[in-house]
Amino acid sequence: MTVAGTGTIPVMRPWLGAEEAEAAAAAVASGWVAQGPRVAELERAVSTAVGAAEGVAVSSCTTGLHLALVVLGVGPGDEVVVPSLSFIATANVVRYVGATPVFADVDRASGNLTPGTVEAVITPLTRAVVVVHQGGVPADVDAIRGVCASRGVEIVEDAACAIGAELHGRPIGAHSDLVVFSFHPRKVITTGEGGMVMTRRPDHAARLRRLREHGMSISAAERHSSARVVLEEYLEVGFNYRMTDIQAAVGLVQLRRLVDIVARRRSLAARYRERLDDRTGLVLVDDPPFGRANFQSFWALLPDAFPLTRDGLLQHLLDRGISARRGIMASHLEPAYAGEPHVPLPATERITACSVILPLFHEMTGEEQDRVVAALHEAAGIRES
Ligand SMILES: *Cc1c(COP(=O)(O)O)cnc(C)c1O
Repeated sequence: MTVAGTGTIPVMRPWLGAEEAEAAAAAVASGWVAQGPRVAELERAVSTAVGAAEGVAVSSCTTGLHLALVVLGVGPGDEVVVPSLSFIATANVVRYVGATPVFADVDRASGNLTPGTVEAVITPLTRAVVVVHQGGVPADVDAIRGVCASRGVEIVEDAACAIGAELHGRPIGAHSDLVVFSFHPRKVITTGEGGMVMTRRPDHAARLRRLREHGMSISAAERHSSARVVLEEYLEVGFNYRMTDIQAAVGLVQLRRLVDIVARRRSLAARYRERLDDRTGLVLVDDPPFGRANFQSFWALLPDAFPLTRDGLLQHLLDRGISARRGIMASHLEPAYAGEPHVPLPATERITACSVILPLFHEMTGEEQDRVVAALHEAAGIRES
């Protein structure tokens, strides 16, 4: 249903079809459009897909991460370790609860936190670490837990990009007490906006359900379906972070596509790796030894000797109808975090300054991918043979 071929190759395009449109229309026709039965169904379906005990749907990964920190009781005076190399929401949620984000550096190959970079910034004030699976490349959460558990430091996984990725042979989603997915269109599957907090702790799940719905003692959906009059109470100051049933209807269809989407992304990533000449010197994102990426973002690090600057390369690609993006941002370099003290972050600064995200989407054709490869070879001064 989408047009490929000529014209600009986008960096990402969600794979949406007639089934999603029909599912959304059915939700509208049902008369129940806010959080209701379809949200509950999506929560069960995602939990089953990733092997988590429970899922709590929310309006975005950002709001889910916020609630995760509230549930852990993180607040003013606490420090939370985050990678600077991440979408800025990872750091912002720490500020939402009044705590201090402490930036840690990342592994140069994966762009992820490591036990070493986390340990380097843990202090007696550290309450939690937000471990990001950057671009859908799994971080070794289990190893990071090794430096956290003995110090009573909690782990929250920012798995915004990582549904369908695997760590130590198991899907991301069940390795920690709190794992948060995003269903933004830039991610692997989408509900327009949306997210879900996966948890294996019933107490966390109950609190998350209450917090996302104004702190209500009983959900609106339960109240409506009860045969008896039920008066709700507001047990604490909560939020309105709910997903709608229209979004969940779309999500249920998208979830059925997840296995295909991940397989396609992995095969396109492998094809980039095969076709890009080693002489470009580009360092391409790859699976870590302990897991399987979903390649939500396919990034390439430019070698020092590359003939073009990073921005020069982005322009070179755009001039050829190819929309690429700068690499993953670094929060500590943004005005919002100017003046925030931090340890040296050399790997973060190198990756953010010298990498590009290449087009990769489900319906990308081999021809489109070959156009990207040819443009990169041209930029690197390599003649096609
Ligand atoms: C996209 C993203 C988010 C934010 O997700 P939303 O669902 O848009 O709130 C958070 N963290 C990371 C690492 C992301 O890539």
